[in-house]
Amino acid sequence: MTTEFEGKQPPRNSMSAKLQRSHDLLVKLSAQVPGIIFQFRMDRDGHFSFPFISDAVREMYGLTPEQVREDATPFFAFRHPEDADGLATSMLESARNLSRWHHEYRLVLPKLGVRWRLGDAQPEKQKDGSILWHGFITDITERKQSEERRRLNARVFETVGEAIMVTDPQANIVAVNPAFCRITGYSEAEVLGKNPRILNSNRHNKAFHKGVWQSLHDYGEWAGEIWNRRKNGEVFPEWQTISCVKDPTGKVTQYVAVFSDLSEIRKAQDAAEHLSWRDALTGLANRALFLRQLGQSLANAHREGRYADVLLLDLDRFKDINEARGLALGDALLKAVAECLTQILHPDDLLARLDSDEFAVLLPRLTADREIAGREALAVAEKLREALRTRIEVDAEHFPLDASIGIALFPESAQETSSDVLRQADMAMHQAKAAGGGCAVFFEATMGQTIRDRYRVERELRLGIDDGQLRLYLQPQVDATGRQVGAEALVRWQHPERGLVPPGAFIPLAETSDLIVAVDRWMLGAVCRLLARLDAEGRVLRVSVNISPRHFQKDDFVDEVKRQLAASGADPLHLVLEVTEGLVIDNFSEVVAKMNLLSSMGIHFSMDDFGTGYSSLAYLKRLPIHELKIDKSFIDDVTTEPNDAALVETILAVAQHLHLQVVAEGVETQAQADFLNSHGQVIHQGYHFGRPEPVEAWLAQLPSGA
Ligand code: C2E
Ligand code: MG
Ligand code: MG
Repeated sequence: MTTEFEGKQPPRNSMSAKLQRSHDLLVKLSAQVPGIIFQFRMDRDGHFSFPFISDAVREMYGLTPEQVREDATPFFAFRHPEDADGLATSMLESARNLSRWHHEYRLVLPKLGVRWRLGDAQPEKQKDGSILWHGFITDITERKQSEERRRLNARVFETVGEAIMVTDPQANIVAVNPAFCRITGYSEAEVLGKNPRILNSNRHNKAFHKGVWQSLHDYGEWAGEIWNRRKNGEVFPEWQTISCVKDPTGKVTQYVAVFSDLSEIRKAQDAAEHLSWRDALTGLANRALFLRQLGQSLANAHREGRYADVLLLDLDRFKDINEARGLALGDALLKAVAECLTQILHPDDLLARLDSDEFAVLLPRLTADREIAGREALAVAEKLREALRTRIEVDAEHFPLDASIGIALFPESAQETSSDVLRQADMAMHQAKAAGGGCAVFFEATMGQTIRDRYRVERELRLGIDDGQLRLYLQPQVDATGRQVGAEALVRWQHPERGLVPPGAFIPLAETSDLIVAVDRWMLGAVCRLLARLDAEGRVLRVSVNISPRHFQKDDFVDEVKRQLAASGADPLHLVLEVTEGLVIDNFSEVVAKMNLLSSMGIHFSMDDFGTGYSSLAYLKRLPIHELKIDKSFIDDVTTEPNDAALVETILAVAQHLHLQVVAEGVETQAQADFLNSHGQVIHQGYHFGRPEPVEAWLAQLPSGA
């Protein structure tokens, strides 16, 4: 039997005292309930109202009971859009079947935001056809949130890469995740109820385990590296954190251990490390690793005031074998050499491959006596050479090899770097090569002052280029009438102490290393900028620039020229590259291909110092060159030496036949010029017509609009 509080309820003042008392009691009681108690009515015409709703509606909906007593519409304004349909359906179903209404749904409240609610009520059909529900609504937002958290935790537990192991306070395993099974090799069933001791590697002593427990006791957690054992017996390092889970009274209810398998990380690290520090062909250390280790040795040697050595070993005639027998054999040979040398050396020594057939050895053991250190290095060098001569075999074929070895003792001075030491060994090695190979040479003792000077010059030049000490000079080239038709760009080095240094004093030295590339690049850039400037001023002239073979042979040479032309805006038609005969001896076809590429852009090639080198007229025909430069040495005596005169005449005839322009270098007298003019069409370059001058001076003497 239900009592309806509103509906046909008499006005408040006329309400019977009894009814009033029970209403007040209900209001009082309902105020003690966490949530709303209500009586909800649905009329036959679909009208909703709350004949009774407890005061909690103020807090939970921001509405007063009066606002919804006659019409429940304001109450439904807060439905979450996604849950609105479900809510309506559940109520209609309850009304139709007169079944208990039990539903969880969300609201969006102006002040509280999204909240979860649980409604529960029993419907009753009234005589007039309306339906009356009695029930309650509570806020279940917290429960919902913690359910969501738990779901998330469970998902993390299942999917993380780290192993998770949960034990009870007596250290019996109560839960493990899939990562645990993957890392340890145990299934969940095999470990539940067991003590984590089953993973013990026996690598840690009692004190270690005591420390772990102590930390858990004192701080509630422990973290560190620990070695455990997998089911298959393999011992592996892991990074583990253990924490205590405590109840509100502070009693431990669980221990949670999380660990990751460091061995996988270590393996990946090792692989990455291997790639960046190793030579791919032989697996030996590469230059970077060698320099790093050498740097450490150098620091040790400094600190202890004792000596160690570096050997630089370059195989003799390796190139010949490589060319004659092919790259595959060459590679196999290098591997055999790497293995052989490794066997001879002490495990502490470091063997590296720096370049194709160039190996370096670091003998890091320190010796107090400089001379003894030297003698030991020499002994090692001889042992290595002996092994190369007798022990290198590929496919059962014996290859008697030998090497040129440079030895550098260190430390030499306080400022020295590992590159300096290697450079010294390199210079000594070149000295050994120059002496015919098959020997070991010290940087120190046997290298005279000249070598040391060269070493210094090289260092200074390297710094000087960056410091803007190079200068562009130009020497005019004139035709038979004396009109300037071009110029050769020549480099000078403005040394801060030694003044203007001519190229003869540093170019040959620079050519022994990539230093020449830096010089050439600087010059090419300067010439391109000059050409652009000449063009802009309407002075059309060709300018030649010297390109050394080492520079030309760089893989990116063609790109570099393009880049420099583009950067400056110079016209390639006015650029002449002077190359020497030496360039085409190695890699004829590759050189020709590059020359063709550049020629097709309009760049001209000039064969410098013609007559001094291999002077094969045969290949001249096959090269895309436009010009020959007869070397000064032939011009010098052209008016007095019949041999030279005949040679120059021949060159002129051949050039004419091949449609090549000829430039005579070193024309110092009118007689020489006359001789040349009477034998062909020749462009003159020599002191008689003009010396090399700084670019600004040269520009100043240039007639405008030349
Ligand atoms: P080169 O290319 O054969 O240059 C001609 C050399 O002969 C220049 O010497 C020039 O000054 C000199 N010369 C010209 N006419 C006369 C003359 O009438 N009498 C005498 N006694 N000498 C004359 P420079 O400038 O000392 O250059 C020497 C060499 O240095 C050049 O020979 C070239 O091989 C090299 N060089 C110069 N600048 C560069 C450069 O920028 N890059 C490269 N890779 N090499 C360069
Ligand atoms: Mg030249
Ligand atoms: Mg020349």
